[in-house]
Amino acid sequence: MIYKIFLSLIFSSIFGLAHTQIIAIKAGKVVDPSAGNILMNQIILIENGKIKEFGSGIVIPPAAEIIDLSASTVMPGLIDAHTHICAGISKFADKLGVDFFDLVLLNPDGYRAIQGSVNAKQMLDAGFTTIREAGNSGKYTDVDVKRAINEGLIPGPTILAAGRIITPFGGQFRTKADKQFLLNNEYLFADTQDEIKKAIRENIFYGVDVIKIVVDSKRYKYSAGDIKYIVNEAQQAGLKVMAHCQTAEGVSNAVTGGVASIEHGWTIPDSTIVQMKNKNIVLVSTDFPVRVLREFGSNEEKAKAAHNRFIERLKKVYSCGVTIAFGSDIMVDVAEETRGTLAVSYIDSFVEAGIPPSDILKIFTINAARLLGIERTRGTLNIGMYCDLIATPDNPLENIETLKKVSFVMKNGIVYKKQ
Ligand SMILES: [Zn+2]
Repeated sequence: MIYKIFLSLIFSSIFGLAHTQIIAIKAGKVVDPSAGNILMNQIILIENGKIKEFGSGIVIPPAAEIIDLSASTVMPGLIDAHTHICAGISKFADKLGVDFFDLVLLNPDGYRAIQGSVNAKQMLDAGFTTIREAGNSGKYTDVDVKRAINEGLIPGPTILAAGRIITPFGGQFRTKADKQFLLNNEYLFADTQDEIKKAIRENIFYGVDVIKIVVDSKRYKYSAGDIKYIVNEAQQAGLKVMAHCQTAEGVSNAVTGGVASIEHGWTIPDSTIVQMKNKNIVLVSTDFPVRVLREFGSNEEKAKAAHNRFIERLKKVYSCGVTIAFGSDIMVDVAEETRGTLAVSYIDSFVEAGIPPSDILKIFTINAARLLGIERTRGTLNIGMYCDLIATPDNPLENIETLKKVSFVMKNGIVYKKQ
């Protein structure tokens, strides 16, 4: 019994189960990305994981634990709206000419849950307090990692999980007919409306928070009518739909079908960009840096050309006023980087596209929170909301690079990183 109490004390202090202690953060500067402004010398009082009071003239209760961030800039925690923490290849894999994606599939679910746990901590350490898992996680290992985090077993961001990706027959991989079983954990193949309805219900039953579809990775695609049906079915259970689209036709079908977000959207016709803006459909732009494309197997020249194409379409979409949310879409390891530091490094793509720091901060916080439907509880620092915040050495409105040096991370009012 004593042993159990001791363990629970350790875990509640390390991994953040709620406690009633009041915490007072003394913040030198606080950035509000939704307003694009900065407040000086603020006090944030936190109780039961939530912001109790926030302002400049607040009296700190004598019993409060004080965290001094007066030399730092504080802002809401970052959000990555497109991750694959339970997918990747082991550094020790013997590749023997096997296709990268096949190597992902060959990893058993137990291993993938461990990968997910490690990557979740890396994301949190880099400042991501919320992530949206976009599938490719085997048979619901993303849901399992989410559960382990919520139960305080392991540290990690708040996760919204997509579970198995719903797709026309075959999904995204190129597995041969006698190896089809490898795909069964990864996808729910759904071509007819009956199959679509069943797939959505199966995902919901096993605990997903969002429906992810792949629209157009093969020559056959989901039509606008198929997608409308999917959006309707998901909506009945209160879920949004995120749509992987890589072709102009795919994006157009998904936008007509009324999804919440286009993932990637490598080619978007001008008329569809206008529709996206009018229907408030978000682009999760996943603009891979050259070094990530290299790890996916591109040579330097092709990687640079692809990256430049992404940036050109990002510029266009941004200048037309479409809402953009950040998504890293990382499945590979890059030397000297964690999943988290690599994800933060995507700010370079937004800088390259000429997007000012104030809007980059929105893309990494409030825009993503609204897309995920969590804007009333996370994504900004307001009274009554969960206290998810990070600190950086400099003001990111003046020096956006400072996001690469997150020195402090709090999620649900619990400190996970303090330098
Ligand atoms: Zn993806």
